[in-house]
Amino acid sequence: MSKMPSYTSTTNACKLCKPLGASIAFRGIEGCVPFLHGSQGCATYMRRYIISHFNEPIDIASSSLGEKNAIYGGGPNLKLGLKNVTSKYAPQLIGVATTCLTETIGDDVPMLLAEYRNEFGGSEMPLLVHVSTPSYSGTHMEGFHAAVKAVVEQLASDTIANGSINLLSGFISPADIRYLRGVCDDFGMATTILPDYSDTLDGPAENDYPLIPAGGTPLHAIKQMGGARATIELGATLPAESGGTVLLHRHATPLHRTGLPIGIRATDAFFALLSELSGRAVPAPHAAARGRLIDSMVDGHKYIFGKRAVIYGEEDLVVGLVSFLAEIGVQPVLCASGGKSGRFADAITAALAGLDCELPIVREDVDFFDIETLALELGIDLVIGHSKGYTFARKENLPLIRVGFPIHDRVGGQRILHLGYHGAQALFDLITNTVIDRKQSESPVGYSYM
Ligand code: SF4
Repeated sequence: MSKMPSYTSTTNACKLCKPLGASIAFRGIEGCVPFLHGSQGCATYMRRYIISHFNEPIDIASSSLGEKNAIYGGGPNLKLGLKNVTSKYAPQLIGVATTCLTETIGDDVPMLLAEYRNEFGGSEMPLLVHVSTPSYSGTHMEGFHAAVKAVVEQLASDTIANGSINLLSGFISPADIRYLRGVCDDFGMATTILPDYSDTLDGPAENDYPLIPAGGTPLHAIKQMGGARATIELGATLPAESGGTVLLHRHATPLHRTGLPIGIRATDAFFALLSELSGRAVPAPHAAARGRLIDSMVDGHKYIFGKRAVIYGEEDLVVGLVSFLAEIGVQPVLCASGGKSGRFADAITAALAGLDCELPIVREDVDFFDIETLALELGIDLVIGHSKGYTFARKENLPLIRVGFPIHDRVGGQRILHLGYHGAQALFDLITNTVIDRKQSESPVGYSYM
């Protein structure tokens, strides 16, 4: 295996900008407007990415800093921006994320927000949450988790026992969020899912454009998260400090961390946890879905067994997918991510423990130049990840199975279901049919059925 060359440029990054992840998390909170303390260009770039994937409009406000703010500081722009957003949108919450520029010039955002509250405070003032998201030191996933932690840290205050469950579900699709909500309902558990952008980033068509779309995690529920019975936090590479650990340390809310429930084993573990917390057996429709999934695996195994795949994207998603692929007989040969949590390789090893599967090559902090170079040496049949791998897949004439974020070159990225038995079924059918389609299109005789 060749050693990666030493160079300083990035060729088609396998990650996105840190405040972009924070903006998506803020969008999943009721009545919230995401606000970037930085230049207009940053907000425009993020809106473009989010709109292209979710096919929904998203307003991301900005303090619109210019050159002179880089010298004199962005405080006045931040305060004016907050006033404008408050009067135009009447939000319940403004989520303020910093950018590379404001982190570099060293704006003290907590102090500026304290000044703003003193200067303009009143009953009409929305809640303000701030998060530090310098993109040169992290990815969109880190920004997402940082925003969730900031929301919990700055808003969860009520510790009166309320019997509910907190579910910090990580960066998943709107379809995944809806699925989780349904599963929790089926277990009879009152659950606060944070964040919940299943409606705000995947809502119905409306005649009038709502400045703030309906939906999102209710603010009153966030304030009560400290009184929950337990917190479930999904993700295998979560930071040491997270929303879940804040609830644990500040409010003594028991914390259960588990990977994203992708594939049979991970979903079994998640459902076992829900059974334990709810005191109920796995509801019959979900047990039946599991049975159908296994039946389909038996049926389709002959098509996909032994295929070799490269998987890339957010670390937690890749960890979930890798065990699922091993379960269905696809050999994951390369797992890659632009993230660099330092926990990626261990999480992959843990996810594959006990499965009849060779350990894949694992690379964090890589771009698509790295991924392509390695993948070609390993010999692969399938590329699994988001649209940013399209160039590489097309060049090498490999089928790309689109999962995760961002999906720019297909519709329905927001409707991809990855989680649970239902998500595994959808992924299994997609992968198997892709392999069959490739075989047919490469066959000189095509296909016929007598
Ligand atoms: S990477 Fe930095 S400069 Fe670029 S859009 Fe993100 S915050 Fe702005």
